[in-house]
Amino acid sequence: MEQTLSGRTAVITGSTSGIGLGIATMMAAAGARVMLNGFGKPEDIAAARRAVAEAGDGTEPHHSAADLSKPAEVRAMLAEAASVLGQVDILVNNAGIQFTSPVEDFPEEKWDAVIAINLSAVFHATKAVIPGMKQRNWGRIINIASAHGLVASPEKVAYVAAKHGVVGMTKVTAVELAQTGVTCNAICPGFVRTPLAEVQVGAIAKAKGISEEAALKDHLLAKQPSKRWVEVPEVARMALYLCGPDTGSLTGAALSLDGGWVAS
Ligand code: NAD
Repeated sequence: MEQTLSGRTAVITGSTSGIGLGIATMMAAAGARVMLNGFGKPEDIAAARRAVAEAGDGTEPHHSAADLSKPAEVRAMLAEAASVLGQVDILVNNAGIQFTSPVEDFPEEKWDAVIAINLSAVFHATKAVIPGMKQRNWGRIINIASAHGLVASPEKVAYVAAKHGVVGMTKVTAVELAQTGVTCNAICPGFVRTPLAEVQVGAIAKAKGISEEAALKDHLLAKQPSKRWVEVPEVARMALYLCGPDTGSLTGAALSLDGGWVAS
């Protein structure tokens, strides 16, 4: 792969699995030194570190176990990143959780957890990296929002509120930094094929007594006109593009990667 990120450093939150791991792997393959974060079994975290090392220069990336629901741990993680990597050129705010329930039954502690991880952690991490990025006149802040940052679905009140908030935060950050060489954009994927998302197909098929194909196309992907998953490398490629040359004017955008969902 072309070494477009040679000499750059990147922190990708929630990168022990799924989309974050895909972004970390592709950024390492493009020459970046990356730092991972997220939960998981020790063997799964070790496997993630190996995958990133193999894609990159063979060096295993540092992993931070910071719990992003805690602002002090978000700040400590970015301080650790500055010390391990020297500086943070690219921040990918990716960590996220989901919980579904009608508004009237939505547990308050679940609301607090989704808002803390999916929204407030993006604020705390962004705040922490801005001074260094401004000082060096270059930086890329990439927020993994969602189609749910632009439109609603029932039973996802905290997630939809958090992701709409992330899109709003992206715009404010971009406008404030527009003359600094630091850009901030949101990527808004539709349903992305990750292990956790795939599990839902079997669960829907079983609950409704239908085939897995029908569960996927008619239920899970009912709103996604492409009727196929967004693939992790499609999201990672977009993140990589945002860090590449001639992208300084691309800021404040909410970039849909959703097979036509929000357009339809
Ligand atoms: P995933 O569950 O595979 O990965 C989530 C990551 O976040 C994991 O590494 C997990 O350990 C980490 N994480 C969770 N809580 C954390 C916490 N408190 N502190 C630190 N790390 C924590 O999920 P994914 O599908 O890869 O989703 C990644 C992002 O993409 C999320 O923000 C999600 O909302 C967004 N997204 C996913 C989809 C999809 O269909 N999969 C679609 C649109 C947007």
